[in-house]
Parts: sequence; C-alpha cells; structure tokens
Amino acid sequence: MSVSLRILIAGGGVGGLALAQGLKKAGHTVRLYEKSVSGGAAGYRLHMNGDGGNALKDLLPPDLFQLYLATSRKDPRKERLVFYDNHLRELGERPHLGARVVDRPKDTAANRATLRELLMIGLADVVIAGEIQGYEETTDGVEIILEDGRRDRGDLLVGFDGVHSRVRRSKLPQARVMDTGLFAIYGRAPLPPSLPPQLMDGFVIVFGPKVLENGVLSLGVFDPRIAVDEAPARCGIDARLTPVAPYMMIAGSLPASMVREKGLRSDTITGPQMKDSLQELVKGWDPHIVAMVDAARAEDFFATRVRYVEAPYDWASSRVTLAGDAIHGMPPTLGIGANLALRDAQVLAEKLNGLASGSRAAIVAAVRSYEAEMRGYAFPLVKRAITQEGSASGFTPMGVLRLIRLVGIGPFLNALRGRKKSFVRPANDEEERAQ
Ligand SMILES: Cc1cc2nc3c(=O)[nH]c(=O)nc-3n(C[C@H](O)[C@H](O)[C@H](O)COP(=O)(O)OP(=O)(O)OC[C@H]3O[C@@H](n4cnc5c(N)ncnc54)[C@H](O)[C@@H]3O)c2cc1C
Repeated sequence: MSVSLRILIAGGGVGGLALAQGLKKAGHTVRLYEKSVSGGAAGYRLHMNGDGGNALKDLLPPDLFQLYLATSRKDPRKERLVFYDNHLRELGERPHLGARVVDRPKDTAANRATLRELLMIGLADVVIAGEIQGYEETTDGVEIILEDGRRDRGDLLVGFDGVHSRVRRSKLPQARVMDTGLFAIYGRAPLPPSLPPQLMDGFVIVFGPKVLENGVLSLGVFDPRIAVDEAPARCGIDARLTPVAPYMMIAGSLPASMVREKGLRSDTITGPQMKDSLQELVKGWDPHIVAMVDAARAEDFFATRVRYVEAPYDWASSRVTLAGDAIHGMPPTLGIGANLALRDAQVLAEKLNGLASGSRAAIVAAVRSYEAEMRGYAFPLVKRAITQEGSASGFTPMGVLRLIRLVGIGPFLNALRGRKKSFVRPANDEEERAQ
C-alpha cells in the first residue's frame, strides 16, 4: 500500500497545478502556494505536444482531461511546424517534438489562461494565495516561510515557481538566469473567417525577404474544439471558464537594425511601438498577414526577454526539489517549456505515488530518481533551444547557420540562387503547377 504524504508546492503555473491534481488524485495532502492566483498577463497560446498531453491524461481526473481536449485547438490540416517565405511559399517543415499520440485526440494548442483555470477546478482546498520567501529543511520535514510571515510544514517541497524561482535561489544558489539580450513580442488578432490553408497549419514560421537583415513572424491559431465557456457543461463539469474568442497568436522577432534605429528595449517598449514595428516588418508580405497585424490591438502586445536557466548538472537530493522553468527555463524557440513542466509533474507524481514508506530515505530516493530522469530529457532540450535561438531572432551570420540546420541546406540554397539578396526564389507559377 502506498503512503499519503503532505506535499508543499511553490507556484501555481501549469506545472504546479497539474502536479497538485495528480498528487491529490492519489490521496496525498497537497498545499500549493501561488503569489498571483488571478493569473496576471497569462493569456498567451501554448503549443501542446504528446508529452504534455500524456502527462495531463495521467494526472487529471478523466473529466478534466476531456475538458483540456475540448478546449484545445481544433485539429489543423498539418499538425507540424511549417516554414514559409513572406508570400507563403513553403520552405520546409518539421514534426513537432514530443511523444506520438495514436489512441486519443491529438494535442494541439491551449490558451494558457484557460488551461490554468481548468487545472484549478477541484483544487479549492489546495491552492492558497501567498508568496514563498524561503524554507527551512530538517531531517523530519521542510517548513516554508511566506512573505507575510505565515509558515507551513510538509514532507516535501516542490519548487515549481518559474524562471525566477525563490526555491532555486536557496537550493541551488550557483544556478543563474542567463539573458540572451534578445526579446520577442507577442500579440493576437481576431481569427479572420477565412485564411489561406498555410496559415492554419500547426505552427507557422514566416521569414522576411532579406538574408542578412531580417525579422521573423510566428503564427499560431487558437480556435477551440468546443467554445471555451460551453465546454465544462459539455464535459459534465460544474465550473465556469472565461470565454475566449478564436485568435491568431502573432509573435515577432524584430530585425536588429530596427531595434537599434528605434531604440527599442524590452522593458520600455509600448504596445503601440510593438504594433508599429510589426506593421513595418510585414510591409509587402502576404496581405492576410498584413491584415492580421493591422487588426491586432496594441494593448494586447507584450514583450518577453529571451532567458534561460543555467543550472548545475548535479546536486544533492533532499526534501526540496525543483521542476519546470525553475530548473530548466529555456528560450521559447522550441515551444516546449510548458510540456516539459507537465512531464516533470507526471514523473515526480509517479515516483511519489508509488512510495511504500514516508521515511526521509524513501522520499529522497524518489526525488533523486525524478531528478535523474528529468535531467535526461530536459537538459539537452535547454541546450537545443539556446542554440536554435538565432534562427528566430534575425539573420545574423550565426542565425543563418541555424536556419540552414532548421530548414535544410537544399531549400536554403535554392532560395539563395533564385534572387540576389533575397531569401526565397520568386514563385514560378508554371513550375508550381507542374509539381
Ligand atoms: C510568450 C511565451 C510563449 C510560450 N509558448 C509556449 C508554448 O507554445 N508551448 C510550451 O510548451 N511552452 C511555452 N512557453 C513556456 C511556458 O510558458 C513555460 O515553460 C511554462 O509556463 C513553465 O511552467 P511552470 O509551471 O514551470 O512555471 P510558470 O508557468 O512560470 O509558473 C510559475 C508560477 O509560480 C508563481 N510564483 C513565482 N514565484 C513564487 C513565489 N515565491 N511564491 C509563490 N508563487 C510563486 C508564479 O506566479 C507562477 O504562477 C511560452 C512562454 C512564453 C513566455
């Protein structure tokens, strides 16, 4: 028979909430402390993959998993990452990362705020508003200290508290948050009633026309299988989800020269400046893209610095562990951070749910086993996300090399041969029809 532990979680992002669901379902007592229960600016689109979806399937009660599927994006024509030039001619495509799903609806994309709302269903006795300041670990337990002086005690503390984790600061003071100096801008446009099929692919990356002075636009549809606010009733769940109108997420990485000339900085750039810059970037591109950027509301834009966590490879396991962005925060290039956070929750829950003893030795062994597995799948991906960043951040010489790795040398050379200084060969209608 497995034991019931008292487990404390720092942070109620997607990872912490999913872990709380999985531990509660298995009969543990869980207390999750979240400094911003209402969520703040958490409304962007999350690309979901088989790893994240499988984790949710394991962790959630079945009706909540159905709600996740119901509120996910409708299945796209191609559930792949597709690269286009700025006139929507295909340059290449890649499968998404993550496990292949065959026995259930595929993972597509979720609206982050919706996912967080649905993960909170049934956790009224678990989620507590409060900011964790630090913790004290003893042989027989761990005690957290909140900013307002409150304390709580448990058998284990899981730091799921994001890139700037307070738990990590104490557990691994040598870890550092690295700043690439780059930033990306995110916005959304109402989903037009009809769009060229290319723009409806799983995730779309559009490159601008010049090789060495470029910007990149990423586009991702969020159009749920069932309207978000109607989905709980359809899944037999008595809960309310905030309505979300279908949208196209627009993420831009501006050319370095534009950032320099306009004196743009991630901490001072305004919504109107972000929109103006993107409008300038897409001038002359496919008219559907131009229209969507024009339709995006300036106040919906936000900028995010491209950062990652440089953590030591190994450390002594204890009653305090780290998960999600707190230990492997990475640039958003691969679109997998949330999926990895969910996988961490799944793996950690599996180790804890099987424990036959609540002794310190048993808990620490479970934590050690989780940490070893997590390092194996997550750390190589942090490295990959960092080295691919150039391809999504403008065509510096390094960026060009990384792009070649992404789309392949053939399409890249063809593009270069076709037009001087232009990335993409102009379309030849006769040739295209013949193919
Ligand atoms: C714009 C953008 C787009 C992205 N797109 C994707 C995508 O498409 N697919 C994907 O998989 N990933 C994506 N990511 C990455 C993904 O959002 C993160 O990897 C994921 O949210 C990490 O989850 P987490 O639970 O570890 O941390 P977080 O989601 O960061 O949650 C941490 C939580 O801890 C709370 N907290 C922090 N400190 C404390 C404290 N001291 N006490 C109490 N609470 C605290 C915070 O308020 C927060 O709620 C994207 C990220 C960004 C910024």
